[in-house]
Amino acid sequence: MKLHEHESKTLFAANGIPIPRGRIADGARQARAIGRDLGGCVVVKAQVLVGGRGKAGGVKIAVNAREAGKHTTEILALRIAGLAVRKVLVEEAATIRSEIYLGIANDRAARRPVMMASAAGGVDIEQVAAQTPEEILREHIDPFLGLRSFQARNLASGINLPRAHWEEFIHIALGLHQTFVETDATMAEINPLVVTEEEHLLAVDGKMVLDDNALVRHPDLAELRDVDADAGEEVEAREHGLSYVALDGYIGCMVNGAGLAMATMDIIKHFGGEPANFLDVGGGASAEKVASALRIILRDGRVRALLINIFGGITRCDEVARGVLVAMDEVGVRVPMVVRLEGTNEEEGRRLLTESDLITASSLAEAARKAIAAAA
Ligand code: GDP
Ligand code: MN
Repeated sequence: MKLHEHESKTLFAANGIPIPRGRIADGARQARAIGRDLGGCVVVKAQVLVGGRGKAGGVKIAVNAREAGKHTTEILALRIAGLAVRKVLVEEAATIRSEIYLGIANDRAARRPVMMASAAGGVDIEQVAAQTPEEILREHIDPFLGLRSFQARNLASGINLPRAHWEEFIHIALGLHQTFVETDATMAEINPLVVTEEEHLLAVDGKMVLDDNALVRHPDLAELRDVDADAGEEVEAREHGLSYVALDGYIGCMVNGAGLAMATMDIIKHFGGEPANFLDVGGGASAEKVASALRIILRDGRVRALLINIFGGITRCDEVARGVLVAMDEVGVRVPMVVRLEGTNEEEGRRLLTESDLITASSLAEAARKAIAAAA
């Protein structure tokens, strides 16, 4: 689950990271009032759950309260990466001397978190990561020891930060790590962490991603979920108890069990196809669940064929077949469907489907090959 900038920064501040003063507004009037309270130059920032807001016109400096109101009206009318802007953050503007990147994420290959820092922070960090990765320094963190201050010092020295800022930098790095651990985050990032004209470090942007599986431990944070910012399909899937992740390919997959879903995606790729999604209908998938799963998959216009791979255990194949028929009736399936049903009540399941013009397969490999051929 992604957090908004102001939520991330509030969590950072609780661990001693300096952030600009500011508040949230949902209209020009409120933005003007905050601008007046703060006095002087303010920055108005779109609160949407995507990066690159600056480049999309979602971050604007205002010289006074009146201009803050004007920028707010403009920014609230924007769509950034398809997302409507519902709120802005109005903050005291920072005077920036340089922009640093500081972030922490899990390095799965190393099986531990890694803290990353770069002197080339700011809006082009993705380009830096792609083109000059050596400009990003890394320190792996022992999960039992946590981030040690010498590691933060290594980063400060590695990015050639003037010594005068090391103490603040180390304090911020430790605070960021603390926030990451406390909230069960999978990512926490300050980009940019700026050196101000007043020679202090300040977290101007903040971004966090929390581990959905750990949210039960953080009911206060779970409440922050911004449903209209998640992909609509993923929200709908969650409501139906389905686990769905949209991908870039063209073969829709409906599978029961996460492991089997992964294997299905692998085998599609193995035979030269590209899966359009990961979808686990779970155990004991009812007809309604199957129908909603198909609706969700078929809404993706890129899907050119469907592969239904069900291993009947607790899940009964005839129940799944009934769900498929309901969905076909309701949504009007416009692409070829390949079905492999195996296990509990498979004969009954297949019998139910003989009437419809589905392609059947008896092995996973055969199903994948047929789905790829049908999508061509
Ligand atoms: P992002 O584009 O979504 O990452 O949004 P950021 O909050 O990182 O803002 C983008 C860029 O706007 C930053 O890299 C800064 O260069 C600039 N910016 C943001 N806040 C301020 C500020 O308070 N003062 C000044 N001068 N520039 C800012
Ligand atoms: Mn940023």
